[in-house]
Amino acid sequence: MDQSKNLCVVCEKSSIFCLSCNHGLCKGCAEELVKTDKYNYCPKCDNYLDVDIKKLFTDYANNNNEFVNGDAIWCYSGANSNWWSFTPNQCKLIENNFQLFLDETELNEMKLTVSIGSIYTLNFENMTQSSFNDNTKKRNLKRFEFRSLTDFADNNVIGIAGKKF
Ligand SMILES: [Zn+2]
Ligand SMILES: [Zn+2]
Repeated sequence: MDQSKNLCVVCEKSSIFCLSCNHGLCKGCAEELVKTDKYNYCPKCDNYLDVDIKKLFTDYANNNNEFVNGDAIWCYSGANSNWWSFTPNQCKLIENNFQLFLDETELNEMKLTVSIGSIYTLNFENMTQSSFNDNTKKRNLKRFEFRSLTDFADNNVIGIAGKKF
């Protein structure tokens, strides 16, 4: 039996991506190939890929609610000058609205439903978040671009959406 497509052609760990040439790739090696701009060709047989590795990897990360290199990370302030990040999917939604805000200055806030019954108003002009029902409860917002996992520590982010790292 041919096991080759179940193993990563770079490191021989089990693969999660199957390339159009039928070679396998693990998540870590796929990420490395995307980072180094080597995502158009199979690293083993050098065939041009129908679906490039960047697209495979990005789709995977989006479906699994993970941050990808270059993503905008949105955070709200916690106690003791710590920060919490929103979830990857929430960050994408906030970033889309933020880009609209940058384009047309009249759209300076958005509503974000974080769980059943919890709706927040995010104000991009003041970079604050307040509870939709009680706008005296305010937190600060900040944004940075995700480059590596140490970014979270560097920015005093202690967890994602109330869940500690
Ligand atoms: Zn690998
Ligand atoms: Zn190949």
